[in-house]
Amino acid sequence: MSEQDTLNPLHTSPCGLPDPQLGEPFLLTPGPLTTSFAVKQAMLKDWGSWDGDFRAMTADMRRRLLDLLGNDKDAFECIPMQGSGSYLVEAMLGTMVPKDGKLLVLANGAYGLRAARTMEVIGRACHLLDKGDYLPPRGAEVAEILANDPAITHVLAIHCETSSGILNPVAEISEATYAAGRKLLVDSMSAFGAVPMEPGTIRYEALVSSANKCIEGVPGFGFALVRRSELIATRGNCHSLSLDLHAQWENMEKSGQWRFTPPTHVVAAFLDALKAHETEGGVAARGARYANNRDVMVAGMRALGFETLLDERWLSPIIVTFFCPADVRFEFDRFYGLMKDKGFIIYPGKLTVVDSFRIGCIGQMDAAIMRRVVAAARQSLEEMGVTSAAPPAAAFEERKKLNA
Ligand SMILES: *Cc1c(COP(=O)(O)O)cnc(C)c1O
Repeated sequence: MSEQDTLNPLHTSPCGLPDPQLGEPFLLTPGPLTTSFAVKQAMLKDWGSWDGDFRAMTADMRRRLLDLLGNDKDAFECIPMQGSGSYLVEAMLGTMVPKDGKLLVLANGAYGLRAARTMEVIGRACHLLDKGDYLPPRGAEVAEILANDPAITHVLAIHCETSSGILNPVAEISEATYAAGRKLLVDSMSAFGAVPMEPGTIRYEALVSSANKCIEGVPGFGFALVRRSELIATRGNCHSLSLDLHAQWENMEKSGQWRFTPPTHVVAAFLDALKAHETEGGVAARGARYANNRDVMVAGMRALGFETLLDERWLSPIIVTFFCPADVRFEFDRFYGLMKDKGFIIYPGKLTVVDSFRIGCIGQMDAAIMRRVVAAARQSLEEMGVTSAAPPAAAFEERKKLNA
């Protein structure tokens, strides 16, 4: 039906395996996600972390990541760091916010709240703006908070808040931040590589992301992209030995090596994923495939009666949250199992108030796969005896009112 359907590299795996590849279910999750056969295959070799070949791979990876920043890339440095995404958030906050600094955290979900908790644990001052589950922090609110609290030095925005799938308005947040003379840090974990984040268009000092999201690598490390002029000034800021971005950067510049044991296989896989990202057409093409995945999936789910938690304009091309149907015959655990039997791993909700579940749009999937997801959902509802997938009326009305 769509030209996008023919682009999925899954169909051209070297072994000619049909999908689901290797008989595995598709991961409709925000990472770890479904990777290509080539990415998995890139891990079938052992690399010496000290060896020149691996050092060259690290250098190539850092250069390719900087290339994704567009025109202003020369003002930035790429610092990979071992660990999952949360380690990178902690590394960025601990390295970039000075000990006597103060951070405004803009939260509308679990990842924003986790960042505020991180500041508490590392003993740094923090002001939390908590917008709940489905409303974006707006520029005017940021301006007001900054005007009232001169102690705030930095602002943290969550690019795509993966717990609801909301795509936050980082451009207007950036404008408000710099208009007030403060600095922006961005958790772009689940958006980087699919949603443009060029510092020439949206100003910021640092962002973090990880290997297993929109670049479609496997989990094991993340990376920070930091404005060099800011990074230079951060020596000695960090609360942690192993999470110090400045120390990791200095060491990489000097020796080309990671300070401590790098996840060599994961780096090899990621390099392959970066090359595939470039071949596909970079950020624009990756974002277009994901947006098409979302559009096909959301239209199909709505036709079954499901409703999205978020208003149309905030839906990200990364992951979409649906209300659980009001029908008493709908049980999420049963639905999950029925979907898994059909080859699709969906994701539970992460909201505080209403029952929900999530379906991811990222990874090695295209519109044809998303149509199969919808067909599997229809069949699963039938098997459960659910006749309407409509959400609880009260929760849906409440959401519409708040978004009005
Ligand atoms: C995935 C993600 C993280 C990191 O989570 P980990 O489980 O530590 O990898 C942080 N922020 C956002 C917005 C994310 O989507």
